[in-house]
Amino acid sequence: MPKFQTLAGLGLAACLAGPALAQSPPAVQIQAQSVLQDWRCGTPPFDPYRFATAAMAPSDCGYSSTTIKGDYDPGETLVIPVVVHVLQTSGGTGYVSPALVQSQIDILNEDFQALPGTPGQPGTNGKIQFELATVDPSGNATTGITYSNNTTWYNDGGSYWNTLAWDTNRYLNIYTNSAGGYLGYVPDLPQGGIVGTTSDRVVIYWASFGRNSAYGPPYDQGRTTTHEVGHYLGLYHTFEGGCGSGYTSGDRIADTASESSPTFGCPGTKSSCGSADPVHNYMDYSDDTCMWEFTPEQINRMRCTIYNYRPNLYTVGGTGPSGPGTAFCAGDGSGTGCPCNNQGAAGHGCQNSTGAGAQLTASGTASIGAGDLVLHGSDLVSGQSGLYFQGDNQISGGNGAVFGDGLRCTGLNTVRLQIRMASASGTSNTTVNVAAAGGVSAGQTKRYQLWYRDPAFSPCLSGFNLSNGYEVTWLP
Ligand SMILES: [Zn+2]
Repeated sequence: MPKFQTLAGLGLAACLAGPALAQSPPAVQIQAQSVLQDWRCGTPPFDPYRFATAAMAPSDCGYSSTTIKGDYDPGETLVIPVVVHVLQTSGGTGYVSPALVQSQIDILNEDFQALPGTPGQPGTNGKIQFELATVDPSGNATTGITYSNNTTWYNDGGSYWNTLAWDTNRYLNIYTNSAGGYLGYVPDLPQGGIVGTTSDRVVIYWASFGRNSAYGPPYDQGRTTTHEVGHYLGLYHTFEGGCGSGYTSGDRIADTASESSPTFGCPGTKSSCGSADPVHNYMDYSDDTCMWEFTPEQINRMRCTIYNYRPNLYTVGGTGPSGPGTAFCAGDGSGTGCPCNNQGAAGHGCQNSTGAGAQLTASGTASIGAGDLVLHGSDLVSGQSGLYFQGDNQISGGNGAVFGDGLRCTGLNTVRLQIRMASASGTSNTTVNVAAAGGVSAGQTKRYQLWYRDPAFSPCLSGFNLSNGYEVTWLP
C-alpha cells in the first residue's frame, strides 16, 4: 500500500481542517504532533488552546486530565450497540462482507475483554462488550450493517455521516471506506463535545477492517479498529505529549510508560523516555500482532468516559443473547399498566424521576456452582437506596400489581437479598448469594426485582418505585 507513504502532507491538511480545531487558534499551534501521526491515525492530538473551549462539565476523565476512581473499575459489563456502514465505490471497491464485519466485532470483544484463548488475552478485561445492533433507530430489526455505493463517500468526502448516521447518542457508528488516506481516525475525542452530533464516528480503512483483511500484514488483524475505538472512548495515544507523564500531561494516564514518539513495527526493546516504551499498547502504532493491551487505568478512563460522556450509549450486560436470564414485567413504552399512566422505556420498569424507569439486568452465569450471577440496576435515582429481592412467582402472570409508583412483579416466598445505594450514574449491583437467599436447586426458576426510593417523582409521590422483573433458571 505505498500510497500511504505519500500522504503525510494530505493527512496533515485534513487534520488541520478538522472540526475538532474549529475553535482553536490557527493551525500552526499543533505542528509537530500531526506530522508524527502521519497516515497511521488521523485522530487530532491534544491541543492546549482548547482548555477553555473544550472543557465541558468537570469530570474524572476530562479533555486535559484523568482522575482514577474505583467507581470506574470494571464491574458491570457495558454493552455497546454498533452499526457498521460499509461505503463502497460505485464499482464496488471497498466491499466488506458481513462475516468480516462480525470478525471485527469479535476482535473488539477479545481486546476490550482480554478474552482467554484469543490474541487479546494478555490485556486487561475492561468488561466492555460490543454487539452489532439488532434494532435500528426506528425500532425495526436490523443486521447492524448498511451498504452504500457512492464513490465520493468511499473517498471520505460528501459528509456522508449527515445522511447515514444512526443516533450517535445510542449507537457506535463505524464507517469503512478509504478513511481519507489514514488507516483510521475519529474526528475528536468525546470530551470535545462531538457526542450526539452526526459527525461523531469511527472511520476505518476498509482493507484493515476485520480479521485477515485485504491489506495483509502488518495491519490486517483488526487492531486499527481497537485503537480507534480507544479514541472513541476517550483515550489519547501513548506518545501524546512525548515524555510527559502523570494524569495531566502526556496521555493523561500514569500506568502507561511515556514515549517520545510512536512505535512502528514490533521492536524487542525500545526506550525513549528512560523506561521501556509501551509498544504492546493498543494506543501505540505498532503492528497489529504486536499490540495486545489496554492498561487498567486506560480501562478506568474509558469506563469513566462512557458513564460521563456517552451515558445513553450502553446497556448493562445480560440483556443480550449471552445473558443468563430474561426480563419480564418490562415496559414497551406503550403507556399501559403503571400507575399515573407512566410506563417506562422499553425493557424498563415504570417511569421514575430519571425519565426512563429502572432497568434490572444480569451478567455472569446461572450456575449455582460458579456463584457469579450479578444483578444490575440502572437508571436508578442517584444516591438513593434500593433493595434487591427474590421470589418464586411472577405476580399476575408477569404483569405485576400496582405498588407505589411501580408494579410489583415478583412474589411468593420472597427473600430480601441486599440493599444497595445507587451511584452518581444511577447504577448499582449485587452478586446473588444463593445460600443466603434460602438456597436454590438446579432447574429451579427464581424471579428478581429491585425496589428503590424515588422521593422526587412528582406524578405519584409515593416515594418508591420498582424495576422490571428478571427471571433466572438455575443450573448446577
Ligand atoms: Zn490514533
